[in-house]
Amino acid sequence: MKLTTFLHKFPSNRSCMLHFAHLRLKLGIKCPKCGCTTHYFSDGKFPKFQCKECGHQQSVKANTIMHKSKLSYRTWYIAFHLITSTNNSFSAAELQRQLGLKYYRPIWQCMHKIRVALGIAEDKRILSGDVEIDEAYYSTQIRRFELPERNKHGRKRSQKTPYMFTKTKVVVMAESKPLPKAKKGYQLKRVCGNLKMVVVPNIKRETLNQVVDGRVDFNSTVWSDGTGSHKDFPLIFKEYIGNVIPKEELCNILPYVHICIGNSKAMIRNIHHCIKSEYLQMYLNEFVWKFNHRKVKNIFDCIAGDMCQIKNNLMLNKARKVAA
Ligand SMILES: [Zn+2]
Repeated sequence: MKLTTFLHKFPSNRSCMLHFAHLRLKLGIKCPKCGCTTHYFSDGKFPKFQCKECGHQQSVKANTIMHKSKLSYRTWYIAFHLITSTNNSFSAAELQRQLGLKYYRPIWQCMHKIRVALGIAEDKRILSGDVEIDEAYYSTQIRRFELPERNKHGRKRSQKTPYMFTKTKVVVMAESKPLPKAKKGYQLKRVCGNLKMVVVPNIKRETLNQVVDGRVDFNSTVWSDGTGSHKDFPLIFKEYIGNVIPKEELCNILPYVHICIGNSKAMIRNIHHCIKSEYLQMYLNEFVWKFNHRKVKNIFDCIAGDMCQIKNNLMLNKARKVAA
């Protein structure tokens, strides 16, 4: 959405609230008491939904991403708009500066809740067809007390700074179909579909098998660089092509995983600078959601729909816990 369109469509807090309420009515609200799905909506001083069966009342924010949030609807909507309007990311500090808000923490929590919710929304997607799989290492910070006291050489770690740099492992999966005809202007011989990025504690065989399970369709053809931890892939997938790839051939055989790894690293490095390893998954969620919605025209409605569909309290609790 263009900035002018956004300002015209959502000039006030009330307009954002009404839009969110109507979106919720359209997508369906479930009463937490009786399970009834039909509700009245009253937009008085305290706008709320009322269950037609038992009369249970809930606020417009209840059981959505905004549950119990004290930030206004417009602040949330501006966050949605900024996240969807740029190809790059948007930092919480920048949003705080733009809105002139006093406190950083609520904005940071808002952005992180959105990122967790984007990840939950992307979980439903299953990759199929030709899929490239590779591992990547992201430079992140980790708290010192999370590490063993001695490093791998048996030396004691210094306790001067609470954080130190580490490499966080990520499994990257990307659909890439071969182009039927070589198109003019296309340098690559393949075209990319959807993407998935998952932070993993290690890249052992069992971990990779768990990651792939439920995320990639078993009938797909998997391409990889043939590492030892992919040994079970020929048994899991219909077809598996894994050979050690010479450096010159990298751009032809596994082009898209490497492009996505490079772009996501650049995004994190340029906008968020140093990130903690526990939050890496959230930044990747944002990158992956934007990548998978790159061809969607009305991306703002897409994000607003995703945000009010996060109704599962368990998932929300998880989001709140992570973002707290
Ligand atoms: Zn009810």
